[in-house]
Amino acid sequence: MSPLAPSPLQRSPLQRGAVIGILGGGQLGRMTALAAYRLGFQVHVMAPEEGPATQVTPRRTLAPYTDLDALAAFAAQVDVVTCEFENVPAAAAQWLHDHVPVRPGPRALATCQDRIAEKSFLRDIGLPTAPWGVAQGPDDVAALAAELGRPCVLKSARMGYDGKGQVKLGPDTDPAAAWAAMAGHAAGVQGVVEGWVDFAWEGSVIVARGLDGQMAAYELVENRHRDHILHDTLAPAPHLTPDLARRARELALHAAQALDVVGLLAVELFIAHDGGLRVNELAARPHNSGHWTMDGAATCQFEQCVRAVAGLPLGDPALRHPTRMQNLLGAEVLDLPRWLSDPRARVHLYGKEAVVKGRKMGHVNLVGG
Ligand code: AMP
Repeated sequence: MSPLAPSPLQRSPLQRGAVIGILGGGQLGRMTALAAYRLGFQVHVMAPEEGPATQVTPRRTLAPYTDLDALAAFAAQVDVVTCEFENVPAAAAQWLHDHVPVRPGPRALATCQDRIAEKSFLRDIGLPTAPWGVAQGPDDVAALAAELGRPCVLKSARMGYDGKGQVKLGPDTDPAAAWAAMAGHAAGVQGVVEGWVDFAWEGSVIVARGLDGQMAAYELVENRHRDHILHDTLAPAPHLTPDLARRARELALHAAQALDVVGLLAVELFIAHDGGLRVNELAARPHNSGHWTMDGAATCQFEQCVRAVAGLPLGDPALRHPTRMQNLLGAEVLDLPRWLSDPRARVHLYGKEAVVKGRKMGHVNLVGG
């Protein structure tokens, strides 16, 4: 491993030409990198393999996040590190943080990558979630299902996304079968059981928080899923009222501040029929439900992320044009000619070759609604 002096925590803005390190090589990293280049920065991606982000970044370290020599080489070549992938091992993020500023920091990453830590954090700061409990095995699942009522949902504490690692327990679901479906044969797996939320719609608020604590929130947008995968985001949300917008914004700002995020925090929300809010999930990175901002907001989420981690002033998050973001999942990307002939459509593809069912191949922003 190359010797690396611990860096003084860099608090001043990055200079033009400074290098932003990105952990993760997917589409979020690609779009963050493109925004960083636009602001005059260089970008260095660290990822286990080539992907959408490394297609646009000549500087890259291709190695597992657990490879300390590779982490050291990466750290020596960057001025700040951000993550586009939330499951970077906490030890790797902590190791990097001891050598180069990591924004958001290891605590925010650790909180968002574990549902137990995330829900405990939300409870501790007084934000509502679905009722929940920790499950270490099938007996806990049975007890929690009895306590919370059915339907309820068992989710793996770690590494779940887009509905993966989740099992809904209906009236007849066997807790042992649900546990096996969630945990497979892996040892030491933990889960959470959540009470079922009868929501009217799902939405999210994305907050940017700068080095100086300044915050800027995009407004609450509506997210519609298909097969547990985000399919459409509507900005503005059709049923948004000024009161709902204010409560959602205050909740998200509170979470970003309490987590001491520098960068972005996406707060996924369930909106009840009476307008009540519950937090579903947090993500301390750019978020799929923020892709509309690329064409519909004064400042896009990726530029906002770069501004925050670079110590620059945040941009205006205001909605400029009503926008409907539609993900191009799997074979939907083959509709490209249709989208290209639609004057409202701004197409963003991620450079992925294999068309796989449910895979996020790109998205389209329909500007003007
Ligand atoms: P998640 O991976 O936790 O974001 O869950 C994926 C999707 O499953 C959510 O966007 C909801 O549509 C649904 N879902 C998750 N948890 C619950 C819950 N407790 N009650 C009702 N629906 C849920």
